[in-house]
Amino acid sequence: MAPPMSAASFLAVLKDEGLTVVEVGDWQHHNRNSKGAWGPVNGVMIHHTVTQGSAATVRVCRDGHTDLPGPLCHGVITKDGRVHLVGYGRANHAGLGDDDVLRAVIAEKALPHDNEANTDGNSRFYGFECENLGDGEDPWPDAQLTAIEKVSAAICRHHGWTERSVIGHLEWQPGKIDPKGFTMAWLRERVRDRLK
Ligand SMILES: [Zn+2]
Repeated sequence: MAPPMSAASFLAVLKDEGLTVVEVGDWQHHNRNSKGAWGPVNGVMIHHTVTQGSAATVRVCRDGHTDLPGPLCHGVITKDGRVHLVGYGRANHAGLGDDDVLRAVIAEKALPHDNEANTDGNSRFYGFECENLGDGEDPWPDAQLTAIEKVSAAICRHHGWTERSVIGHLEWQPGKIDPKGFTMAWLRERVRDRLK
């Protein structure tokens, strides 16, 4: 458990990890903080967007839609591996999830199956939306997977977390399937190796 890092630190740790970062508009102040808490933070959550095309993907993640206002994450990872910062603070990405999963993330233990939606995740997780159709067929280019690994490792390193603090939306909220096309166990192994 930790207070969220400042927007300036967030930008710095991503750049220090060697990522190509694109700052979108006034991302440092675009958030949902008026609707609830941002922090303490416990982990990083990975999503897929079910969209195609970088510009449209970044736009919807920044603006959201009528029934779900943006930002829908902090960073959008497009297929080319760039990280587009669209918001900072509370963001509409995690929704309600399982308190047993949160406890496991805090303890950095193996995750139980998510079977409850009783806990606000938007205050607890950094969120990254990754450009992919989420049909299990749309490819995940190496550049994009490497960027997902790097953002996860950068945040874990800053907070002193292990790879077990990186989870997928599907591990948090019953009914969610994202990310689809790689497994979180595989990603966590890569993050673990990067943190060595
Ligand atoms: Zn999601």
